Amino acid sequence: MEYATGRLFVLSGPAGAGKGTLRKKLVAAMPDIDFSVSCTTRSIRPGETNGVDYYFIAKEDFAKLITENAFLEWAEVHGNYYGTRRDDVDACVGSGRDMLLEIDVQGSRQVKAAMPSAVRIFITVRSMDELENRLEDRGTETPDQMLLRLRNAAVEMRYAGECDHIIVNDDLEKSSQELVDLVKIYRR
Ligand code: 5GP
Repeated sequence: MEYATGRLFVLSGPAGAGKGTLRKKLVAAMPDIDFSVSCTTRSIRPGETNGVDYYFIAKEDFAKLITENAFLEWAEVHGNYYGTRRDDVDACVGSGRDMLLEIDVQGSRQVKAAMPSAVRIFITVRSMDELENRLEDRGTETPDQMLLRLRNAAVEMRYAGECDHIIVNDDLEKSSQELVDLVKIYRR
């Protein structure tokens, strides 16, 4: 179904490229855009809040939501399940508000198929070395998890060409402004 009103902006890109930080900066600069809080089966990390960063749910509950067709999109990413609740998106976009999704490339493709007017923005860095350095600095992953994310990054990078826009996040302030300006253009 295509919505007559609010628009979806979908941020994707490899782990460590800075999607999360750019997403927070965009919402801070444009508080009238709602961030879609995803459901996930992964464990909560220090500093995260249930219901704010994600809805942290059990695998059985996630599986039940799949059978109920509750997700606009869902995917297995780095060994955990993640999904966007359809009713959240419907309520937001249906009321005329724009919404921001920060999801992986598989999910981004599903959203585009369901809602062709969605704007897909790929956040990336110049090189795999840069990604590795950032993931190391972030320090939220175990060595095994980091390896998995780097392997997946190589596949995710190929998705950039399908997106409507690519932001190379070399400089956080510049990239953040670029993202805000981009969204402003669509909203004009
Ligand atoms: P993290 O575990 O680091 O928070 O997220 C891992 C990956 O899952 C990131 O690429 C993130 O964008 C993606 N992700 C987060 N929420 C969703 C979602 O609802 N659907 C999909 N398909 N991916 C998601």
